[in-house]
Amino acid sequence: MIIVAGAGSAGLTAALAASDRKLEVLLIEPDLRAYLSCNSARSTGMVMAGGTKIQKRSGVDDNWEWLLADILKKNRGRCAMSVVRALVKASAPMVDWLAESHGVDFSVVKEFRYPGHTQFHMHATPSRSGQELVDSLWRAVRRAPQITVLEGCKLTALDVGDGKITGARIQYPDGRHEDIATDTVILATNGFGNRKDWVRRYIPSMAEATYFGGPNSDGSGIEAALKLGAGVGFMSSYQGHATINTETGLLVTYSTVMTGGILINIVGDRFGDETAGYSEFAERIMSQPDRRAYVVFDQSTYEVAIRFRDFREIVAAGAVRSWETTQSLGGGLGLIPSVWHETADTVSRCKAGDIRDRFGRADWGRAWRSPLYSVVVHGALLHTQGGLAVNEHAQVLREIDGEPIIGLYAAGGAAQGISGDGADGYLSGNGLLSAMGLGFIAGNHAGN
Ligand SMILES: Cc1cc2nc3c(=O)[nH]c(=O)nc-3n(C[C@H](O)[C@H](O)[C@H](O)COP(=O)(O)OP(=O)(O)OC[C@H]3O[C@@H](n4cnc5c(N)ncnc54)[C@H](O)[C@@H]3O)c2cc1C
Repeated sequence: MIIVAGAGSAGLTAALAASDRKLEVLLIEPDLRAYLSCNSARSTGMVMAGGTKIQKRSGVDDNWEWLLADILKKNRGRCAMSVVRALVKASAPMVDWLAESHGVDFSVVKEFRYPGHTQFHMHATPSRSGQELVDSLWRAVRRAPQITVLEGCKLTALDVGDGKITGARIQYPDGRHEDIATDTVILATNGFGNRKDWVRRYIPSMAEATYFGGPNSDGSGIEAALKLGAGVGFMSSYQGHATINTETGLLVTYSTVMTGGILINIVGDRFGDETAGYSEFAERIMSQPDRRAYVVFDQSTYEVAIRFRDFREIVAAGAVRSWETTQSLGGGLGLIPSVWHETADTVSRCKAGDIRDRFGRADWGRAWRSPLYSVVVHGALLHTQGGLAVNEHAQVLREIDGEPIIGLYAAGGAAQGISGDGADGYLSGNGLLSAMGLGFIAGNHAGN
């Protein structure tokens, strides 16, 4: 029997892959509401893959080499190359396997192209929400007779002998501990976004940011492996997000920006090329007055965004305000009239192709069609991307010699990411690719 610690998308995928390989799996999850609270459930559920049958059926030409090129362009080669190659190659088989063998209802997201994506790489379930993705994975896990789920329990330590995993210690809700013998543990416990001292140490620029990920991302899985001498990589790496609506606690889809919207600060000024990436833009918002901004977009963009469930909830909560004219928007939001007038005029001239943007934004979408809309947003830390050093089989590597600790795997936020250091190497989709891709690789490798 193998142990999978953590029932987010990484752990659920790993458990399914291992059980398809006829392994008995004990899936350990401390949070009885993990299907709601884990990062994967909070995510937008966009799963990146290159060359799936699903893409082919919907007329999208793609392959793993193009996906690799997009990832490497964004992270500028700052990654473990063998791991990234393994992930992009696994991406299409993983998505097709989940769709065909486990009933995950993926389709290609063609509504808009994410920053840095040269093809339509994203796959999502119908409501385009992480919650629905996680629900689908849970349904598949519940159907798999070889997976036993132990909810309310947490992995607290690992045992090793002769360089091989020999067991894991788990803690029950009443505080009792039990040592379970096993030769294989897959750590899918996510990163350390909710552990303040580690965030302060590794990502000081985000120490004061709102944390917008799962509450159990406390680094406990990483810590257990560190005690065995595991190495770590890219600990300063994280995904930020520029468009978190704190009134509702929901993420405003970045399609609002990518299809022609802009981000302005509270005086009405833009402060960068919004299309460069929402991750690095989080820090920019935090350096604006009052640490907040507005996304401003038009009716055409609204019609795209309304297809996203979270956006519909933000609208229903009254957090998206509509305005007949740019003047009424400026007045209603209390922007400085001269600043906003200049911004709105520049945007319309950039859209018409009359001038070049001072920040270098090239993709402007069509001229705005009224009404206009605004929604207040903050920058936030979504999840950390640094973690345990792994090889192309998702095996955890020792710090001292880079050799695998036999029987120990890491996937998702518990493993080192593929986005380099800091926030600017994060290509949209790297998170769930690392989670589900490494989970898939780990589960299959454990079963071999
Ligand atoms: C708002 C938001 C939107 C996002 N959108 C996207 C997107 O569209 N596409 C994308 O690619 N990425 C996205 N991401 C990133 C993505 O959600 C994460 O990279 C991914 O969910 C990490 O998956 P995981 O399985 O490693 O972690 P999680 O989904 O957080 O699962 C980890 C699980 O481990 C459990 N756990 C913790 N400690 C222990 C322990 N000691 N023992 C046992 N279990 C433990 C936790 O309770 C949790 O259930 C988004 C993130 C956020 C916050």
